[in-house]
Amino acid sequence: MHPPLSGEVALVSGGSRGIGAAIALHLAAAGADVALTYRSSAEKAKRVSEGCRAYGVRSSAYRSDVRSRSDVRGMLDEVTRELGRPSLLIHNAGVAGNSLFFQDVTGEEYDRVMDTHVRGAYHLIQEVLPDMVSRRFGRIILLSSIWGESGGAGEVLYSAAKGAINAMARSLAKETAPSGITVNAVAPGAIRTDMLNEQLSDAEKEELAGRIPSGRLGEPEDVAAMIGWLCRREAGYVTGQVIHVNGGWYP
Ligand code: NDP
Repeated sequence: MHPPLSGEVALVSGGSRGIGAAIALHLAAAGADVALTYRSSAEKAKRVSEGCRAYGVRSSAYRSDVRSRSDVRGMLDEVTRELGRPSLLIHNAGVAGNSLFFQDVTGEEYDRVMDTHVRGAYHLIQEVLPDMVSRRFGRIILLSSIWGESGGAGEVLYSAAKGAINAMARSLAKETAPSGITVNAVAPGAIRTDMLNEQLSDAEKEELAGRIPSGRLGEPEDVAAMIGWLCRREAGYVTGQVIHVNGGWYP
């Protein structure tokens, strides 16, 4: 039997670390060829693509800042030449908010957070969508967050960006369903990555784990497993959803 994603080409933004690296490896293990992007962690990205190739698929890492349209376009040209047009897009690249109360948020901070999450999604989707439409198949998965639904004090900007991602997934799903393309957002809770480490001390993480019904923080692989399933052909009737991967934790 073929692996479930053989024949697919996946594009994972922010695949050098954390959740994105786990997604890239999971999709490769399921048989997809994997293009992963990074902003500055070239060595880490290279190691992840080597890990992907160990599953017998093709994989490369590409430097591309999702905030820049020309970066994204140049990266897509290279991916297309080397691996083919992506049939699976996972916009995972993200940055943490910096826990400022809203009145202290600067224009620079606004651009950093909104451009990475929301403009990044806009750039990537516009570049891959026309080919998905003409092939009448595609999977678009946008990384959201529990904060996009619950909101968080000191996280207004990050929550607003993820709320926009949720609305984008729900709306775009309606536009693309007739073309056989599904669009979903996956909203992790608290996942053990650099991003969480930047925000919480070890004692705070332990305290948080105690408040999560599953009794632990999430691992990047918990999120990757859901994304792997959404990429499958059999997931074609699931679209326009915000799917939570959070151990039952709603702050
Ligand atoms: P990490 O901080 O561990 O990794 C972030 C990744 O995004 C890196 O690969 C980084 O590249 C890349 N990246 C950041 N900015 C850009 C950019 N402008 N252009 C291209 N790539 C960029 O984050 P996580 O793995 O924790 O988070 C992944 C996603 O999941 C994010 O969207 C985040 O908001 C979301 N999320 C995470 C949660 C958590 O608890 N960890 C909870 C809820 C949602 P480089 O290595 O080169 O810097």
